[in-house]
Amino acid sequence: MKPVKRDGFDAPAFLADHGMAPTPRRAAVVQALASAHAPATAAEILAAARRLVELNRVTVYRILDELVSRGGARKIPGAEGKAGRFEIAPAGSVGPHPHAACRSCGGMECLRPVNLSAVSDSAGRLGFAIDRVSILVEGVCDQCRGR
Ligand SMILES: [Zn+2]
Ligand SMILES: [Zn+2]
Repeated sequence: MKPVKRDGFDAPAFLADHGMAPTPRRAAVVQALASAHAPATAAEILAAARRLVELNRVTVYRILDELVSRGGARKIPGAEGKAGRFEIAPAGSVGPHPHAACRSCGGMECLRPVNLSAVSDSAGRLGFAIDRVSILVEGVCDQCRGR
């Protein structure tokens, strides 16, 4: 699942579309998110963004939180005991979808989108005001099983 086209990705335009001023640090974080082949941890995004611009952990977290609250990225809980991960969520891309998380290496893959409305409907019937619906498959990835 490739949530965004890598070629010609325009980080400043993406930021502007989400109401964020395109500072070099924000652009570096968005570029790092857009270049990731799977949901990435904040630490991975920090490492990638640091190749483009000087920035620290706190700044990366703040930018990621801002992106999530403005709908430009999604935060996905990690497997038990593992770090949560982030993926870019450009307009017109595949919507929320399930993920598979490895409890050994913490890696994560996007799974094919499924209709989540049955889940949100039944939560809605319980009177829940839903913030997000996420489905996480936890287990051991192919690579870790092969070791
Ligand atoms: Zn693994
Ligand atoms: Zn995903």
